[in-house]
Amino acid sequence: MEHGKGPGKHRRRTVLTGAVPVLAAAAVLASGLTARTLAAAPQPAGQTGQAGKAVHRVPTEDRVVFLTVDDGLKRHAGMIDLLRGSGIKATLFLTGQYVRQDSGFFRRMRDRTGAVVENHTVGHLDLAGRPRALQHKEICAASDRFEKVFGRRPTLLRPPYGSFDATTVQVAAECSVKQLVHWSAEIAKGHIEFAAGDRLVPGDIVLMHFRDEFKEDIEAFIDQARKDGLTPALLEDYLK
Ligand SMILES: [Zn+2]
Repeated sequence: MEHGKGPGKHRRRTVLTGAVPVLAAAAVLASGLTARTLAAAPQPAGQTGQAGKAVHRVPTEDRVVFLTVDDGLKRHAGMIDLLRGSGIKATLFLTGQYVRQDSGFFRRMRDRTGAVVENHTVGHLDLAGRPRALQHKEICAASDRFEKVFGRRPTLLRPPYGSFDATTVQVAAECSVKQLVHWSAEIAKGHIEFAAGDRLVPGDIVLMHFRDEFKEDIEAFIDQARKDGLTPALLEDYLK
């Protein structure tokens, strides 16, 4: 099973990714409508029937933006150096299987950059509609494991594909998760896609992955944040 292989993995949001929506946005703008009109339509699937249960953007007037890095598929020392050099404290939503493969890498990244490790389940299943016992295992076993390995129990959960249901919310709470976290912008292959509008705004939660293009993606994040006058901050400092 492969994870973190591209924006398509967040398959329910494919309408927000890739070149086609950019062209669509341009067409809409050209026709006189606003970007807001376009952005209002698609919502990540997990929010269906669960509005308010997951945070997409942190409500804040501080001019801050948050970087989150998911899964953990690709790992090399250069990533740690890059993150350290940037001064960005990222939130790492790790999947249990990758922590099991190489917990030392993530510990080093945490120790050297101030990153915080959070829960992205054990096996990266789409949780919505799954039996309670399975969801419990996927969420709680990851938290148990991460607490042992990293010395801190995760307080945030990013459900894989942004997909969850009422059971997910209950189980997560039972396992010390305080907040489910989606995202409001995504970076892949050095390119940023916004869930709404054409820029980052205060409180935006940016998603990227441990991929081969890590450097390009970090640089895209830094460039965009700078362009929009925002300072990277640690998500856990704002979601308490
Ligand atoms: Zn993921």
